Parts: sequence; structure tokens; C-alpha cells
Amino acid sequence: VKESGRNGFRFFKGEMNAEALRWLALETRLRRAIERDELALHYQPQVSHLDGTLVGMEALLRWNSGEIGNVSPADFIPLAEDTGLIHPIGEWVIRQACFQNKAWQDAGLAPVRVAVNVSAHQFKAGAVVSVVRSALHDSGLAPRWLEVELTESVMLGDSSAAEAQMAELRALGVSLSLDDFGTGYSSLGYLSRFPLDKLKIDQTFVRNITSEQRSAAIAQATIALAKGLSLAVVAEGVETIGQRDFLGSLGCDVMQGYLYGRPIPAVDMARLLALGSVM
Ligand code: C2E
Ligand code: CA
Ligand code: CA
Ligand code: CA
Repeated sequence: VKESGRNGFRFFKGEMNAEALRWLALETRLRRAIERDELALHYQPQVSHLDGTLVGMEALLRWNSGEIGNVSPADFIPLAEDTGLIHPIGEWVIRQACFQNKAWQDAGLAPVRVAVNVSAHQFKAGAVVSVVRSALHDSGLAPRWLEVELTESVMLGDSSAAEAQMAELRALGVSLSLDDFGTGYSSLGYLSRFPLDKLKIDQTFVRNITSEQRSAAIAQATIALAKGLSLAVVAEGVETIGQRDFLGSLGCDVMQGYLYGRPIPAVDMARLLALGSVM
């Protein structure tokens, strides 16, 4: 049992309760997930509001455990971060996304950018740049077709190390997107200091955008801020036409959400890519 991390702390604090046992069992299974080929990426379309064309996609990790079935990333990513498993898993994600995207291009499909989620823990370990560089090199994918999504937590703490890694990724030609904008430790200073290409408006604001004045105000301010800083802006969690129209009227030009499509396996995404649009 680890001496640090949420689960370890919980473990030492009390007797081995059911929750701690469950967590340990999950860790053992997750440890074997890569070698057992239980991980997969699903892809969710990002769509131009103006003409419905597919402009990109986000790779989202799925774990289908042979023993316990599908486990949500909301459950196993925090576990992976606590146990250090995020490093091999995160590397697998980056490589898989690069190889898949290159395979689509080689099959003659119109090239699109794939965004991968990279945990703050991966930045903290300082290995993101070398992992990305080898994934691009080994797959043959041109850097402009890869995007890294990071959260505000990356820019906390030793932020100059994070800043240097972000600059190196940018120098490689990879684009950088700030995920879940507005939910974390948002400091406007981050936005001018760190080399970002894109902001993603978090789905908690999008969800209430047509019913709650405060969410609407936050979305509106975020879009205006992004434009003022020459950043692209993507709204996530767009589920209704009302949300889409409202965001569109505020000047948000790229949408992601169930209205356009759920995350789907690579074979299904290939079909969407062949169509070039979701509508
Ligand atoms: P996220 O990066 O904010 O991803 C967006 C989440 O919202 C995804 O959940 C997606 O399936 C879901 N979503 C997309 N459109 C809609 C919508 O219209 N309505 C609703 N209600 N939800 C929508 P998912 O796939 O369960 O992933 C949850 C979180 O797990 C992600 O949030 C991300 O933080 C993390 N995650 C997923 N894959 C990876 C990965 O490869 N690496 C890392 N480090 N984290 C990952
Ligand atoms: Ca994301
Ligand atoms: Ca997000
Ligand atoms: Ca999120």
C-alpha cells in the first residue's frame, strides 16, 4: 500500500473497509489492463457551428475490464493518478491516438486533429514532451494533427516547468487546449502567460446556459475573452439545439456534445470521417 495518495491515506486511517478493498482490487486490475488489451480510445466529434463539418475530435479513454466490465474514466483516472499508473496509461493514450489518426489518413480519409487528455501528473513527471515526440515519430503523424488537452491544475505549482513543456510542445507543432475552463483555479494571468491555442468551455456552464443567467454570463465572458486573446473556443457538453443556438449567437464556432455525437469506437469514427460532417 502506498504511503501517499487518497487510497493509501484512507487505508492507513482505518481498518481495511469495503471501500479500500474495492480500490485495491481495482488497482490490481488496472495494472494489467494494458497488457490484457482492455483499454480503448473512443472518439467524439468536434463540429463547426457554421456548416456542420467535422473539424476535430477528442479521444476519450475506455476500460473494459474482463472481470468487472466497463469502468468509467471518472473512476479509474483518479486511481491511475494516485498509483502512478497514469504514466504508462497516458503514454498508451498518446501513442494510440497518433497511430490511429495516421492510419485514418493513410486510408485516404480527410485529415482532422485528434485531441488527447493529458493529466497534470504527466506534466509534473516531465515526460510529456518526449512521449509526444516519440509517438509522432514512430507513428509518422504530422504534429499539426495532434492536440493536447490540459487542465488549469497543470499551471499550478512549479508553473515554469509546465510553461517550458508547453512551449516545447508548441515548438513541435502540437496545439494546446485548456480543458474545463472556468472550473478550476482560473486565473486570467494564466491565459496570457501560457502558450495556449484554445479554450474549452466546461459543460457545467453549457448545461445551464439557457436556464441560468450566471452560466450564460460565464459562457459569454469566456467566449469574448478567448476572442480577445486570439484563442479558439470550443463548447463541450452541447446537448440541445437551444444551447447550440445560444452559444452560436455568442460567437462560439466549435461545438462538442451529444447533440452532434457521443464518443464512438474508432471503426465508427472512420465512417463519420468518410462523410466529413455529422449532420
Ligand atoms: P473531459 O475531458 O472533460 O471529457 C468530456 C466528458 O464529457 C467525457 O466523459 C464525454 O464523454 C462527456 N461528454 C461529452 N459530450 C457530452 C454531453 O453532451 N453531455 C454529457 N453529459 N457529457 C458529455 P468521459 O469520457 O466519461 O470522460 C470523463 C473524464 O475522464 C474526462 O473529462 C477526462 O477528464 C477524463 N479522461 C478521459 N479520457 C482520458 C485520458 O485519456 N486521459 C486522462 N488523463 N483523462 C481522461
Ligand atoms: Ca477533455
Ligand atoms: Ca472537459
Ligand atoms: Ca471534465
